[in-house]
Amino acid sequence: MDNLKLANLLFPEIDKTPEYYENKYPLRALPEGARVTRFAPSPTGFLHLGGLFAATVAARTARASKGIFYLRIEDTDKKREVEGGISGIISGLKHFGIVPDEGRISESEDKGDYGPYRQSERREIYRTYAKELVKNGLAYPCFCTEEALAALREQQAEEPIKGYFGKWAQCRNLSLEHIEQNLAAGKPWTLRLRSQGDMEKKIIIDDFIRGKIEMPANVMDIVLLKQDGIPTYHFAHCVDDHLMRSTHIVRGDEWIASVPVHIELFEACGFKVPKYAHIAPIMKEETDEAGNVTGKRKLSKRKDPEASVTYYAEVGYPAESVNEYLLTLANSNFEDWRRANPSAALEQFPFNLKKMSASGALFDLAKLKDISKNVISRFSAQKVYEAVLAWAQQYDAQLYSLLAADADFAVKIFHIDRTGKKPRKDIAKWDEVKAYYAYFFPALYENSFEIPENIAPEDACAILEAYREVYDSADDKDAWFAKIKELCAPLGFTPNVKEFKQNPQAFKGHVGDVSGIIRIAVTGRRNTPDLCSIMALLGQEEVNRRITQMIEKLS
Ligand code: GLU
Repeated sequence: MDNLKLANLLFPEIDKTPEYYENKYPLRALPEGARVTRFAPSPTGFLHLGGLFAATVAARTARASKGIFYLRIEDTDKKREVEGGISGIISGLKHFGIVPDEGRISESEDKGDYGPYRQSERREIYRTYAKELVKNGLAYPCFCTEEALAALREQQAEEPIKGYFGKWAQCRNLSLEHIEQNLAAGKPWTLRLRSQGDMEKKIIIDDFIRGKIEMPANVMDIVLLKQDGIPTYHFAHCVDDHLMRSTHIVRGDEWIASVPVHIELFEACGFKVPKYAHIAPIMKEETDEAGNVTGKRKLSKRKDPEASVTYYAEVGYPAESVNEYLLTLANSNFEDWRRANPSAALEQFPFNLKKMSASGALFDLAKLKDISKNVISRFSAQKVYEAVLAWAQQYDAQLYSLLAADADFAVKIFHIDRTGKKPRKDIAKWDEVKAYYAYFFPALYENSFEIPENIAPEDACAILEAYREVYDSADDKDAWFAKIKELCAPLGFTPNVKEFKQNPQAFKGHVGDVSGIIRIAVTGRRNTPDLCSIMALLGQEEVNRRITQMIEKLS
């Protein structure tokens, strides 16, 4: 067979050679050990948590080695593409602080010297390498129709190994004349790999996450170019990862089964095989109706709202919290590091691919909440204010107007209990803010005046009446508390909690009960941040009004 003739017959328009691209995209001048990784999504919808996780891992891997992380858009399957898919991915990543060093930066623009970074703009490159494979006898045109392939599947029903390979590959050994006739007749063709694989041979890959994996070598004559001349994912990614000089392929482990094909492709093209790190999917515990754990399954785009990245923005988790949580899922030593470095930036964490779970980390919303409370507790009041305001602007018009109306007041609210050694850890996400701080805003404030069972309504009334006489919003914390203590004895309570515990019969309650009644009167809650600060912010008049209101309710 005259391979050169066949190559020219199939790709008459291609005048470049692989050398041209090798020179155009030279090896990257990076320090020893620097890793080049990528995130290579299809623009088929919006970012999912699994994608964000993979992008985080790939980006961290590059960062930790002073390498390059880039974004490549894999859009060879036009049917699955959605409008705005590329910008959705870019802005989704950006929201979580992931800004690739190079790659696609908008629907139509690239940054970096190794582009275009969108596969549909690389047609000529793929066809150049496809032509080279034909020249080298490693690829051939296949004229099999859908029907012929369906018939083949039927014939193979009883076979242990099915597919287009070996003796089953009808077009593998067509003569040049036969091919010429078919082409002249305008028959559509795909380009297939002429696999050199040996069914008896095993390949071993040493995956950074999964360790050593042994698999049978590929024998399939897989499709490289579809009938429309567009490459398959397998072929396109191989050419791209080579020319973009990826060193480490970090991706979901659904691709593990394809690795033998990929390795054969890299080798057939004369490329160096990259290193692999296959990420296990994020898992979720399944529970029965009684809440007992019955097993685990993959986090599902269909069943779990939290699988979609937009969920986190909607309920108002700061991106920092999600990032921090993803790192706990990614590296088991992250939490220890965080405890030892409570205020360090995430970038300082020494991320390690080898510390990733091979079986899939378990997603746990309660844990995310906990982490988020910690993350938010480290924010300044001003930062909380700005974040809540931005969130409310999009998701809660009422809260937005309340916060925007008096920024100074709102910042002071968020300032309560924020400084000091033990900042309050109460808010996990911005959609909790409104209910949590409702008592600061007359428009939101509601009070059901429910008092604890151990306090009689007339005692509560007496506390409030006595307190109304002495409350002064100008009092500092000590004076404020001293006044509450002074109320105790005359009303039959004790200012001393210990004393109460030793002799509970002797008192109606202790100072905590007294301040508890005041708290309910002022906020409608049994639990709040520092009450003295709350009252100071509400002001004398409003505090008196609320106390009077409760007295009236109780009498
Ligand atoms: N486009 C592929 C996907 O979205 C990327 C796989 C890879 O990273 O190689 O699953």
